[in-house]
Amino acid sequence: MTETLDAPVLVLVDVDGARPTGPALELATAARTLTAGDVVALGTGPVDDDARAALAAAGATRLLEADLGGERTQAGVAADALAAAVTLVVPGAVLVTSDYRGKEVAARTAVLLDSACTGDVADLHVAGGRLRASKLVLSGSWSTTVSVAADVEHPPVVAVRPGSVEVAVGGAAPLPVETLEVSVSEEAAAVRLVSRERTAAAAGPDLAEARIVVVGGRGVDGDFELVHSLADPLGAAVGATRVACDEGWIGRSAQIGQTGVSIAPRLYIGLGVSGAVHHTSGIQGAGTVVAVCDDSEAPIFEMADFGVVGDVVEVVPQLVDELKRLRA
Ligand SMILES: Cc1cc2nc3c(=O)[nH]c(=O)nc-3n(C[C@H](O)[C@H](O)[C@H](O)COP(=O)(O)OP(=O)(O)OC[C@H]3O[C@@H](n4cnc5c(N)ncnc54)[C@H](O)[C@@H]3O)c2cc1C
Repeated sequence: MTETLDAPVLVLVDVDGARPTGPALELATAARTLTAGDVVALGTGPVDDDARAALAAAGATRLLEADLGGERTQAGVAADALAAAVTLVVPGAVLVTSDYRGKEVAARTAVLLDSACTGDVADLHVAGGRLRASKLVLSGSWSTTVSVAADVEHPPVVAVRPGSVEVAVGGAAPLPVETLEVSVSEEAAAVRLVSRERTAAAAGPDLAEARIVVVGGRGVDGDFELVHSLADPLGAAVGATRVACDEGWIGRSAQIGQTGVSIAPRLYIGLGVSGAVHHTSGIQGAGTVVAVCDDSEAPIFEMADFGVVGDVVEVVPQLVDELKRLRA
C-alpha cells in the first residue's frame, strides 16, 4: 500500500483570470497521493466555479483564497500568503510549481518557515514518514533522490516540475471558498509591479505547461512562420534553441535548455535542431520526441522516437498538409 502523510498538504494555486494555471491542478493531483488528510489549495486570487470543481476533481479538499490583486505575481507576496496559510493549515509539506517564479516563491517561503526547500522535482512520494523527491541533474544524465522531513513545525517547500504529473479529472462539486487574510511584509511590499504584458513571442500556449511544443533551431534559418505553421494547428507552444534566440529570430523567453526553460510536453517536435546536450537537458521530461533535421548523424536522432532526415522547408509543409487531410 502506498504510504501517505497524516498531515495536510498545501499547494499554491496561481490564478490567471479566475482560472488556475495548468500546473496548479498537477500540484493538487500530486498532493492527493502524498496525504490521507486534506489537500489545501491556496488561490492567489478569486477562482470561478469551474476551476473550483476542477481543483476538487484533481484532489483538493479545501480552498483558501487570498486576494493578492495585481501583486499576486510577486514572489515575495505569494511567499507571505503561503506562510499565512501554513499557520492556518499546519501542513506536512508545501508544493509549488517549479518554474522561474515558483522556485523563487519556494525559496522565499522556506526562509519564512525556517524549513527545507527543493526544486525541479519530477517524482514525489512518502517513505518512512519523509518525503522522497527525485529530479534529473547534470543535463539529465543522473537522477537524484533527496529525502526531506515532512515536519509540521517546519514544512518543506517542494517545487514540482510542470508536466511531471497527469492531472486527475472527473466530476466534482466546486470547493467552497475560505478567505485568507494576508498581511504583506515590508520586504515584499518594497517591490511594486509596474507593468505586466504578454509578449508577442509568448503568444499561444505557455511553454512550460504546453502538452505539445514545436522547436525551431538554426536549421529553420530564421523562418519562425514555418515553425508556427506546424505549431498553430497542433495547438502547440513554440520554443527555440539558444542559437535561434541569439540570432534574434525569437525572444529569449522561448529558449529551451540548460540556460533556458525546462519543458515536459507529451510531444516535442524539433525542426532543424541538432540536439546539443545543453538543449536536450531541457527536454528530459518530454514524452514522444520527433526530429526533422538534414544531418542523419545529429545527436537529436539518438533520443528521437521518430526522426525524419530532410530539409525542414520540404518536410514541414508536408506535415501540415497531412494534418489538414487527417482532420478533414
Ligand atoms: C554554457 C552553455 C549553455 C547553453 N545553453 C543552451 C540552452 O539553454 N539551450 C540551447 O538550445 N542551447 C544552449 N547552448 C548552445 C548549445 O550548445 C548548442 O549550440 C545549440 O543548442 C545548438 O542549437 P541548434 O540545434 O539550433 O543549432 P545547430 O547545432 O547548429 O544545429 C542545427 C541543425 O539543423 C540542421 N539543419 C540545417 N539546415 C537545415 C534544414 N534546412 N532542414 C533541416 N535541418 C537543417 C543542421 O544540420 C544541424 O544539425 C548552450 C551552450 C553553452 C556553452
